[in-house]
Amino acid sequence: METEYISGLPVDNLTRQDIIDDLPAYLASDKKMIITSVNPQIAMQVEQYPEVRKYIQRATHRLPDGVGVVKMSKYLGGNIRERVTGIDVMDDCLHYADAHGCRIFLYGAKKEVVKKAAANIAADYPNLKVVGYIDGYTELSGDEITTRINAVHPDFLFVALGSPKQELFLEEQVDALNAKVYLDVGGTFDVLSGTVKRAPQFFIKLNLEWLYRSLKYRRPERLIQILQYMVKSWRMRGHSRQMAGNKKPQVGTGKSLKTPSEQASDRDVKKNS
Ligand code: UDP
Repeated sequence: METEYISGLPVDNLTRQDIIDDLPAYLASDKKMIITSVNPQIAMQVEQYPEVRKYIQRATHRLPDGVGVVKMSKYLGGNIRERVTGIDVMDDCLHYADAHGCRIFLYGAKKEVVKKAAANIAADYPNLKVVGYIDGYTELSGDEITTRINAVHPDFLFVALGSPKQELFLEEQVDALNAKVYLDVGGTFDVLSGTVKRAPQFFIKLNLEWLYRSLKYRRPERLIQILQYMVKSWRMRGHSRQMAGNKKPQVGTGKSLKTPSEQASDRDVKKNS
């Protein structure tokens, strides 16, 4: 798996299948599998929230979750050609969890939304175990949320607080949490609960889901963020090339479970040898 640097942020050239292939090794090890999305919205927030950048840097799998990311990779001479969305990866994780009787925990969204999402998941995937859920407006502190989650030992933790809240929570708590696989999924519980519909297939196929959502939910700032992202990525193209020149595969799909700091020390060893 190659890492590209777009707009100063690492993004991995991976597919949904790569994630599925990597799940068993991480679930069987004590290394955490941290899957997070990189998209224009998040890329524009990292200046304001350096912790979000740290979380993306520490993640083991950075999804190219936006058509803007795919387009900029192409313009900058990178190899990312496929958009991989958090919602699709959650779907794959749920299938895997169902096939292997894994334990899942949901954190985020409104009380009635997360409750309904948990009920729908339990009905659709009868072999997995929904071991708990907490809504995203709880008065519990981050530490208290972690204590509750750890008490039920989930394999998968899905966090749906929207950006940057979900990345900030995870950056603060991931070391203390005992789940094995982490995925931040934005508004996905709203979709799983039936509260919000995904874009019609026509939009998804043409990679225009972002346009549908921006217009339907009247969030024109998203269109502006995509433009800002493209301009910033283009301006930083020299930096992207420089990082690409230094680039080594970050996590071998299904093989290497090294943390970013271990990979960095491997690189130092190589440089010095
Ligand atoms: N949310 C939450 N707690 C908060 C703010 C938001 O649980 O303090 C939830 C919100 O109810 C929704 C999701 O986070 O389910 C945000 O969805 P959105 O589509 O805005 O996220 P994005 O995909 O844009 O990151």
